[in-house]
Amino acid sequence: MTSRRRRALVLGNWKMHMTATAAGDAARAIARQLTAARDREVAVAPPFTALQTVGEAVRDSPLLLAAQNLFWEDEGPYTGEISGPMLAGIGVTYVLVGHSERRVWLGETDRVVNHKVAAALRCGLRPVVCVGEDQEARAAGRAGRIVRDQLLLALAGVARGEAARLAVAYEPVWAIGTGRAATPDDAAEMHALIRVELEALFADEAGAIRILYGGSVSERNIDSLMARAEVDGVLVGGASLRPAEFVRIAAFAPAA
Ligand code: PEP
Repeated sequence: MTSRRRRALVLGNWKMHMTATAAGDAARAIARQLTAARDREVAVAPPFTALQTVGEAVRDSPLLLAAQNLFWEDEGPYTGEISGPMLAGIGVTYVLVGHSERRVWLGETDRVVNHKVAAALRCGLRPVVCVGEDQEARAAGRAGRIVRDQLLLALAGVARGEAARLAVAYEPVWAIGTGRAATPDDAAEMHALIRVELEALFADEAGAIRILYGGSVSERNIDSLMARAEVDGVLVGGASLRPAEFVRIAAFAPAA
């Protein structure tokens, strides 16, 4: 068995699902079945309203707390927004930045994503930067260019010394919530392209950055995705809402 170069990350994105009570119950159900493992980290990103409850539910367990978004300023007159220090203050480790649903529904631009990456790093959080092409771009053969552009714009200005705290999630939009995941080959190909860009930006420091795959990950495809050395982890939407399935995903078989 070969060991992975980077510790894997399995991150559940609960999106706009579950009340605080339901999220606390789900987190407890997951945490109960997880055992600490040196080769992987597991985290869940509940809605903001459930962060405190889930944080308490996972205390003293290996399950880590993640957030789905943050604002780019640390405080001020920004009604309805939540800042990095607020998240860090309740024990959040990871924060998603630039999820395609925010790009599509909330008009989040690459520039906004870049400001949010900077804010997350400034506050001691670990940003998970989401990139991915839509169906039209893939069909037109422009997937690589779109992903490269999103990545470079998101990471502009990030210092080499901060690179180790980054993760990137490759999430093709056409695979999110559709049941049509990218094949391990397609995911590996795009991850390899992303890694080349990260190495150009951060040289040796890029070796610490994990590249996750996201888009219809399930208990059926997790082992084949994680068997690819290019895939350092997964971002899981729908399947993470089912504790038993998420626990199974987190228990992926290590690459042989
Ligand atoms: C996501 O929204 O990040 C995601 C990957 O969703 P799903 O697993 O449901 O495709």
